Amino acid sequence: MFKKILVANRGEIALRIQRACRELGIRAVMVYSEADRDAKYVKLAEEAVCIGPAQSALSYLNMPAIISAAEVTDAEAIHPGYGFLSENADFAERVEKSGFQFIGPTPESIRLMGDKVSAKQAMIKAGVPCVPGSEGELPDDPAQIRRIAKAVGYPVIIKAAGGGGGRGMRVVHTEAALVNAVSMTRTEAGAAFGNPAVYLEKFLQNPRHIEIQVLADKFKNAVYLGERDCSMQRRHQKIIEEAPAPGIARKLIERLGERCVAACKKIAYRGAGTFEFLYEDGEFYFIEMNTRVQVEHPVTEMTTGVDIVKTQIMVAAGEKLPFTQRQIQIRGHAIECRLNAEDPYKFIPSPGRISMWHAPGGPGVRVDSHIYTNYFVPPNYDSMIGKIIVHGDTRDQALARMRTALAETVVEGINSNIALHRELMLDAKFVSGGTNIHYLEEWLSHHPR
Ligand code: ADP
Repeated sequence: MFKKILVANRGEIALRIQRACRELGIRAVMVYSEADRDAKYVKLAEEAVCIGPAQSALSYLNMPAIISAAEVTDAEAIHPGYGFLSENADFAERVEKSGFQFIGPTPESIRLMGDKVSAKQAMIKAGVPCVPGSEGELPDDPAQIRRIAKAVGYPVIIKAAGGGGGRGMRVVHTEAALVNAVSMTRTEAGAAFGNPAVYLEKFLQNPRHIEIQVLADKFKNAVYLGERDCSMQRRHQKIIEEAPAPGIARKLIERLGERCVAACKKIAYRGAGTFEFLYEDGEFYFIEMNTRVQVEHPVTEMTTGVDIVKTQIMVAAGEKLPFTQRQIQIRGHAIECRLNAEDPYKFIPSPGRISMWHAPGGPGVRVDSHIYTNYFVPPNYDSMIGKIIVHGDTRDQALARMRTALAETVVEGINSNIALHRELMLDAKFVSGGTNIHYLEEWLSHHPR
C-alpha cells in the first residue's frame, strides 16, 4: 500500500480523499491555490503545497506544478478527484512517466472513453446498448449527412466527439436545419475542445438519466455497484441523485450491469468508472463513460456499504478487488442533494463569506462538505459547496430523512439552493419517483418567482 498520496483537487472531494487516506493510514499531501489557503482540509493536512494563484489554469490545471509538488513531497501516487485533470489522458501519462501511480484508469482507457465517437464504437463492440445514430464521425458531404439523419429519424442531436460538461450539443428537428447545425457545432467544438469531429444521434424525447457504477482491478476483475438515477438536472447539470432508480425492474439493471462489467474486462479497465445511459420506454442507451470518481458516488456507498474512494486507492496500489459481484448487496435507498452557492431559482452564483453554517445530522444522514462558519466561498470555481446524503430502509424513509436534514441545514451570508431542494422533496411527481431529465426545467417554468 502507498505511504503517501498527493490529492490534486480542492473542495469537498479533496476532503473526501483525505479522509479515505487517513482511514487507510496513508499520508495525504494536499495541494491548494492561493484562493484555498484557508480551507480547513489544507490547515489540518499533514502536508500541503501551494501550486499557484486562484485561476484554475495556473493551479489545479497546472500539470508541472502538481507533478513537482508530488516530487518535493515524495508522494507515490496522485489522486485527481473529479473535474480539473481527472479525465485528461495527457496528465495521466505525465504522472506515470514521472514515476507516480495515477489513481484512475490507464491513459489509453481515458483516451478511448474521452472521445465519444471511439467510446461509442468500443461499447457497441462490447455489446452495450447505444443510442441509434451515425456510425462514427459525420462525413463532410451534406447529402450523406442528410441520408444518415433521415435513416435515424428526426429529431436528432448533433454532438461533439470531444464534448463534455453538457456543452457542444445541438438538437435538430427538421432536415432544413440539419447541415447548418452540423457546421455550427463543428466550429464550436473545434474552438472549445480542439476537435471539430461531430456525430449524430437520435434525440430521445423524455428519457431518464441512469448510470452504472463500476470498480475494476488490474487483474481484470470487475463488479458493478448498482445504478443511480440522476434525472433531476438543469442545463445538463445534476442536482439530485438517488439509488436505486425508482420503478425500474431489477432484472433490467442486472442485465445492464453485467454488460458494463463485460465491457470493463474487454477494454482492461481499472479503477472506478461510470457508464451513463439514457432510459426511455424500458430501454437503455449508452451516452458516455466517466473514467473517474463522480460527485454522486456517496449514494452508491450508502446503498452498498462499499467505500469507492478507498477501493480506487487499493486497486491503484495493485491490490485485488476485495469483493466479488455476489457479495455486493443493495440495501435500502439513498438520496443526495447538491448544495450550491447560488440563487435557488435564478441560479446566479453567490460566492462570499458564509456567516453561519449548521450541518444536519441524525440516523442515516451524511454530509460531505469542506465549508464552515466564516468560510469564504471563492468566486473562481464551481459553485458546489457540499452534498447532503441520506439513507433509509425505503425511499419514503429516505425522503423523510432528507426533509428533516434540509430543515436543519443553515447557510447564511451567501445564497444557497436549499430552498429549491426543500420544495422538490415535497413535489408530488418527484415523491412518486421516475421523473425525466426535463422535469426540473419544466417545473421551474411553472413556478416563476
Ligand atoms: P456531457 O459529456 O457534456 O455531459 P452527455 O453525452 O453525457 O454529454 O450528455 C449530457 C446530457 O445531454 C444528457 O444527460 C442528456 O440530458 C442530454 N443528451 C445527450 N444525448 C442525448 C440524446 N441522444 N437524446 C436526448 N438527450 C440527450
